[in-house]
Amino acid sequence: MAQTRIAVVGSGIAGLTAGWLMSKKHHVTLLEKGPSLGMAQHGVDAGTAQGDKVVDVPLRVFNKSYYPNLFLLCQNLNIDLRMVDHGGAFGYLNGDLYFRYENIAIGGKNYSYVLPKMKQLPWLLKVGWEILRLRRDMKEFLERDDCDEVRLAKFFEDFKYSRAFQYEFFFPILSSVCTCSYSALMEYPAGILIHGMQTLMETTPTQRFIGGTRALQANLAKSIQNVRYDSHVVRIEPSPKGAVVHYRDGVQEEYDHVILATQANQAREVLDVSYEEERSLLERIIYQTSDMIVHRDERLMPGPARKWSPVYYGISSQYDWPMATIWINKVEPGFEEGEPLFQTWNPLIPPDEDKVLGRTTFERPVVSLDSLKAVNRLANLQKDSLDKRHIWFCGSYGTPAIPLLESGLVSAVQLGEHFGVAKPSWFVEPSR
Ligand SMILES: Cc1cc2nc3c(=O)[nH]c(=O)nc-3n(C[C@H](O)[C@H](O)[C@H](O)COP(=O)(O)OP(=O)(O)OC[C@H]3O[C@@H](n4cnc5c(N)ncnc54)[C@H](O)[C@@H]3O)c2cc1C
Repeated sequence: MAQTRIAVVGSGIAGLTAGWLMSKKHHVTLLEKGPSLGMAQHGVDAGTAQGDKVVDVPLRVFNKSYYPNLFLLCQNLNIDLRMVDHGGAFGYLNGDLYFRYENIAIGGKNYSYVLPKMKQLPWLLKVGWEILRLRRDMKEFLERDDCDEVRLAKFFEDFKYSRAFQYEFFFPILSSVCTCSYSALMEYPAGILIHGMQTLMETTPTQRFIGGTRALQANLAKSIQNVRYDSHVVRIEPSPKGAVVHYRDGVQEEYDHVILATQANQAREVLDVSYEEERSLLERIIYQTSDMIVHRDERLMPGPARKWSPVYYGISSQYDWPMATIWINKVEPGFEEGEPLFQTWNPLIPPDEDKVLGRTTFERPVVSLDSLKAVNRLANLQKDSLDKRHIWFCGSYGTPAIPLLESGLVSAVQLGEHFGVAKPSWFVEPSR
């Protein structure tokens, strides 16, 4: 295939990966509406003893089991990773802890254990056996032929888990991983979430990029021929030879192909009505909105500092979501000393605004049995794109998995073959 002019809209993990890959063979223009690359656009400056340092927002973590390609990409680009302790505590919003586990790293593996604490005994007696049998039940469930065709609720019905197990353990964790409500989790295709939980519980340690997400995005962007910021795309319409991109300032440009690497709802918004089928498929991918704050308000943590863990899930039966807080000083180098610093997703306890350093509203796709069908159909439609449509889609919503960095990366790599660009030699096909 001759070199073509490709516009990639959006510079999150999907757009950066698509741009990095396609630029090996084609001329790529990466268009980002924000003032900097999208993957690390929401970082917040926080004071430390050594001056201001940037806290990644969200503070993304991953493990090798669920993110094999992200690991291999980092290895390939010489981006170093470090293990982080993501030991967790669970409590009610009044500050009472009911469960806490710690992690220990031995020989590059991570093992979780529970310290015997009298106060946790009643909860452990109620739910401990269910936590112990979870691995076995998940394995059995994933062997079922219908595991990808039923909702998560079916798993709990069939394996008879208590309400306490669901709402005080399983949901707070997965709701934070998926950035969605408990009700939305119940609608998730069960196979996707059970497989996600299974791999999260493996002994492969939780990791972060050294240098934060900025390190990865800078590395991916440097080989892309043309990277443009403040390039807000407002409309894309078909043209006889490709597609025309319209910008907010009224300028327009024609490209041979356009890859939309934005969120699905953002992609739908800019597509001209002549892309009717794509628009109706993208509409079936539903989003939920929630807030993330970076702050120093200790009232959002359970009691005194000796009770804190790197991750704290605060729950209340009044809410359909947990509040999840990461204790930054415990997980980010450079913040070990000094005032406590936190990142809280979904602050159910209103913070003291004077102690808030930054606030961001995020939208996250929620996977359902119907959205999976739409994503599948969109992938099939793209097989026609080279000669007919000239419009392509990738993003974390674009594979049958939890929408995370890995799925954004995989969906971008999968586009390569349509453009005559081979998958990287290290690429691992998703296991399910
Ligand atoms: C609170 C929270 C915590 C998370 N934690 C983790 C984690 O620990 N690990 C993990 O793997 N994942 C995590 N994720 C998920 C992960 O961040 C996303 O899956 C991933 O960033 C999505 O990447 P993307 O490239 O698909 O989309 P995005 O990152 O959303 O990128 C889309 C880009 O397109 C740009 N854009 C949109 N519209 C236009 C337009 N019209 N013109 C030009 N540019 C446009 C946007 O500015 C943006 O930069 C978390 C998400 C949230 C919300």
